[in-house]
Amino acid sequence: MSDGVFNKDIKPGVSEGDASAACGAFFCPRSSAILGVLQGVRHAGVSRRKFVKALLAMMAFPALFCGAEALEVKGVEYLSIPQVAKMMGMRWKTIVAKKRQSIYSAYSQLYFDVHQRDILLNGNKVWLGFPVVLAGTTLYIASSDYYKTLRPILFPGSSGRVPSSYTVIIDAGHGGKDNGAQNRRLGLVEKNAALDLAKRVGAILKARGHRVLYTRSKDVFLELEDRSKYANANGGSIFLSLHFNAAGASAAGVETFALTPSGQPSTSSGGVTASDRKSYYGNANDPWNVLLAYYVQTQIRQKTGAQDRGVKRARFVVLKGVKMPAVLVEGGFVTNSYEGARLMSSKYRQSLAEGIASGVVKYASTLYRYRKK
Ligand SMILES: [Zn+2]
Repeated sequence: MSDGVFNKDIKPGVSEGDASAACGAFFCPRSSAILGVLQGVRHAGVSRRKFVKALLAMMAFPALFCGAEALEVKGVEYLSIPQVAKMMGMRWKTIVAKKRQSIYSAYSQLYFDVHQRDILLNGNKVWLGFPVVLAGTTLYIASSDYYKTLRPILFPGSSGRVPSSYTVIIDAGHGGKDNGAQNRRLGLVEKNAALDLAKRVGAILKARGHRVLYTRSKDVFLELEDRSKYANANGGSIFLSLHFNAAGASAAGVETFALTPSGQPSTSSGGVTASDRKSYYGNANDPWNVLLAYYVQTQIRQKTGAQDRGVKRARFVVLKGVKMPAVLVEGGFVTNSYEGARLMSSKYRQSLAEGIASGVVKYASTLYRYRKK
């Protein structure tokens, strides 16, 4: 995967000059909306004098209406870092002029880097759908990234109806004729490691009071669609699909995937295509998917110290088809000699299981807190 491709494809149209110049360079949703309202008012029979007065006010204080807060780049609506900070009730500052800005409070710190799609949220890597852009001296993020990623992680209380977290469906990837990724030198086979990990995670979650079901508890082949069907038919409240990665020898680390929200490209994709606008069963749980992914990814890192590849987005078949919050964990690279050797150790697989289970427990207790309110 080449993380940099997308950044080359979409460059912000404005990288120098006054922020208010953004109004000329970009379509400004706010100013055209205000103009529309003014026109509507005029047609509704408001006196000419009042209309002209309102228009003059708009011309005298353009920053109130445009430029500083919202802009559009290639059909994607963006919000400025100061505006996002305001919406979150937090403060902001520039770390490196025109390159890096931060939004922060006493509890949280976020870092945004120009042209990048990955941000740091309390020290954890989280992938946005669209790259951060610069206009004037201010960085902007896509408004869908605020609503689909930042807000659900930082303010779960704003995500609407709180789902159940009782029944956890654990899906060990691959099986039977499908070995998944392999490291022949080490004798490491993904389907076996995934089943072992699934059972370890299940044992911990059962001890924590969850009902736990497995899509497979043996070395059998299962179609992808049958995995999500099983979860839907058995009252699952959380779906965990467990996998291991394969790539070039140098790739290492853990990553946790949530289903890509409709209208956004997946992390491995360079830009929005027509199919990205489709919506799936799994998208009904967009805010809970990313919250679960965030907790699972951060807890795995805490328990294993593995390299952080971040909370990512993909439209995997199992994530599309489930009607409950769901994540897919890639617990490390079997193809990396160091990580592969670690994965051969049952002690390491236990710490990986503890990380995943601890992420689920944190997610469940967060839900419990908001359910009570
Ligand atoms: Zn796999």
